[in-house]
Amino acid sequence: MKQYVFRFGGGGAEGGADMRAVLGGKGANLAEMSRLGLPVPPGFTLSAELCAPFNESGGKYPDGAKRQAGDALRAVERETGARFGDPDNPLLLSVRSGARASMPGMLDTVLNLGLNDATADGLARRSGDARFAADSYRRFIQMYGAVVLGVDHDVFEEILDRRKERRGLALDTDLAADDWRRIAELYKAKIEETLGAPFPLDPQTQLWGAIGAVFRSWTNRRAETYRKLNGIPADWGTAVTVQAMAFGNMGGDSASGVAFTRNPSTGAREPFGEFLVNTQGEDVVAGVRTPHALTAAAAARAGGGPSLEELMPGAWTHLARVLEKLETHYRDMQDVEFTVQQGKLHILQTRAGKRSAAAALCIAVDMADEGLIDRREAVRRIDPEELERLLHPTLDPGAERDVIARGLAASPGAASGRLALTADDAEARARAGQDVILARMETSPEDIHGMHAARGIVTARGGMTSHAAVVARGMGRPCVTGAGDLRIDLAAGTLSAGGAALRAGDIVTVDGAAGELLRGAAAMVRPDLGSEFGRLMEWADEFRTLRVRANAETPADARAARELGAEGIGLCRTEHMFFDEARILAIRRAIMSETEDERRRALADILPMQRRDFIELFEIMAGRPVTIRLLDPPLHEFLPRGASALAEMARATGAPVAEVERRASQLQETNPMLGHRGCRLGLSYPEIYEMQARAVFEAAIAVGGKRGAPVAPEIMIPLAATGRELALLAERIAAVAKDVAREASGEGAAPPPYLFGAMIELPRACIVAGHLASAAQFFSFGTNDLTQMAFGASRDDSARFLARYAELGILEDDPFATLDETGVGELVSIAIEGGRTVRPDIELGVCGEHGGDPRSIAFFHRAGLDYVSCSPYRVPVARLAAARAALEDDA
Ligand code: PEP
Ligand code: MG
Repeated sequence: MKQYVFRFGGGGAEGGADMRAVLGGKGANLAEMSRLGLPVPPGFTLSAELCAPFNESGGKYPDGAKRQAGDALRAVERETGARFGDPDNPLLLSVRSGARASMPGMLDTVLNLGLNDATADGLARRSGDARFAADSYRRFIQMYGAVVLGVDHDVFEEILDRRKERRGLALDTDLAADDWRRIAELYKAKIEETLGAPFPLDPQTQLWGAIGAVFRSWTNRRAETYRKLNGIPADWGTAVTVQAMAFGNMGGDSASGVAFTRNPSTGAREPFGEFLVNTQGEDVVAGVRTPHALTAAAAARAGGGPSLEELMPGAWTHLARVLEKLETHYRDMQDVEFTVQQGKLHILQTRAGKRSAAAALCIAVDMADEGLIDRREAVRRIDPEELERLLHPTLDPGAERDVIARGLAASPGAASGRLALTADDAEARARAGQDVILARMETSPEDIHGMHAARGIVTARGGMTSHAAVVARGMGRPCVTGAGDLRIDLAAGTLSAGGAALRAGDIVTVDGAAGELLRGAAAMVRPDLGSEFGRLMEWADEFRTLRVRANAETPADARAARELGAEGIGLCRTEHMFFDEARILAIRRAIMSETEDERRRALADILPMQRRDFIELFEIMAGRPVTIRLLDPPLHEFLPRGASALAEMARATGAPVAEVERRASQLQETNPMLGHRGCRLGLSYPEIYEMQARAVFEAAIAVGGKRGAPVAPEIMIPLAATGRELALLAERIAAVAKDVAREASGEGAAPPPYLFGAMIELPRACIVAGHLASAAQFFSFGTNDLTQMAFGASRDDSARFLARYAELGILEDDPFATLDETGVGELVSIAIEGGRTVRPDIELGVCGEHGGDPRSIAFFHRAGLDYVSCSPYRVPVARLAAARAALEDDA
């Protein structure tokens, strides 16, 4: 006969912590604690394997299941000396759900099961406490009525409130035994009136009613939604645990509470928790009364009040010992439910405690120091995504929130500042020393300078991978996108949303973690990373084999990247360096030039600025590799939009308006993603790349000379598709290197060391990678474009169908956030193979957004890349994710 029911209690159990699949988390841990000899009230767990057959058969149990439960119930009776349904000495039960993974949304708990008019009287007689018995009875009717029978919770609250009002009493605790008895009667009558059937008084009916309701709750809407969102398979099912009640409401020497083995918000190594005297567990959680602290020290810190340590010293000493034992046994911080019944401690549940990101870090490092876990385990326990949250200032959870608009939480962190509605205004305000929040309907590359100047960004349109979102994450700016209610009137200089109306210059706050725009400056907390952060990162660095670089083009970003542990720059997008006011004019003059000569003169004006850019980056990176991507976007991105802006440009460049307009429309790309851009421009206008290469080499020689050691530039060609393109450009750039060397050190001087390589962004490039590798010493996968090209949709386009695709189960993940392993990943693998065949020591990296995504990083580790490159703020995330990927190898 298959075993469906597993007993625990009396210092033993039929299951243990390794049986979560069958017993659920709750049941498995109760069994485990029982085996450890901890004071667990006896009980039994009905296997999760009963859940599916029960629901599929419309409420039937397989042969033997009910009989096994009956036997187990008798064992509980023997252990407790009480009997289920016996008016003289009634056994009362709790019935609780428990899935393999913690799962809100299901029916949770029914307490005091087994009470009816007769057993409630019996309970009163045996306990000598009529009030306790009547209170337990009405709690049971209320819980069973709401949870099992589905009667609206408010119905009970109303009856209770009316009674209190009638008696002129304010608190539940003021009500006497007779009140509670009367309330129980009213509850029962109300249930009968609502359901057209009496409240079940037979304990067996109650028991199987509750068990069935738990199994059924697995399929309710809330549970189903939760499962879908969290990838929990529907066939797991929930187990049901039935356990003898321990009473925390049996008078002044009884209590119930929750205890963590360490502080879940700070990670401090001291028990932390709350309890209430003379109550049952749900009151602590529900916040009906304000609970007290466990220890005298914590109570004093909270400004006085009683503590468990002082009120019930015996129970506290016992609890402290249990907490210690549980943590040592599970080697993790535990969240424990307990009850003290007339001075005696009972443990009702333990599980790994949820904790803040800061606490997780602190606990993992402390536990490694204490020898409870090893460093590998400490590294495994930190979720890389959570780490990023730690790096950004965030809104104080207690802060007042005057929300004016809601959108998507596109980039974490929070920032306050003065509202700017254009990039230019943002820049001007920042230059004047203001903190700025930039609000736009959407952003485009033209807004980059304003985004840089801003502390936070909000847009009315766009998804998680819109221009604003991607750039903001890259820059480490908090950002909210798709705040659909926002209306921006540029002419009037106003922003409105819902009922709120604001003007440029007003103070607002962007909460990028919650996806909200708030009025005014809300209080922030800057996380104190403490020494734990640095130590855990050091441990991660010991394990990882992937190197981590950063995408950066400004000195500020490069410095931040170094501070966060970047081992070089993996992508310097040089076009970002041209949006500066002084430079864009020269670029525009170059674009308007009739002849190559004129163009070269315009570019010569940019050369010294570009050289200065590289000198700064090389100095900050102090010999670490710096990958410089030559100009990538189509030229129209450097032209202003709109008639008046074009006229203004005509004035500034000295070209006739008609000519400017003609040039602008000629350069306009129908599809900028596919057009005349990348190395195609470099081949059409060689002088652009020559100027950039010259700036790189001159900077390299300057900084190399100063340092007394060479710097390591890597010149990267965007959008390469053919070997021939690369071969031509490699030749030109080598010629520039030679020229620069000769100018610096005379005829025959050796050119400065550098690598020449290709950005792999096109499916074709992956397939002909071998050809590319004959000219390229490195590949860097531009997985942003590669994903766009592979899916035939831009990031912004894809926002319009990806949510639907997720719903339909066509694509689970956004391929722009997590690398699509079977598609884009396959292209990457083909390119690696092709590249290595022709050039075994080819350097391989990735610089698309995926370089900072933990799951994609695991793929890049397995694929054997040398490094990933990501935005500076994601560098620690990538270091940790790379370490965890390496640890997976030996798991
Ligand atoms: C890429 O395509 O992956 C990339 C990094 O380039 P960009 O995002 O600048 O197009
Ligand atoms: Mg690209």
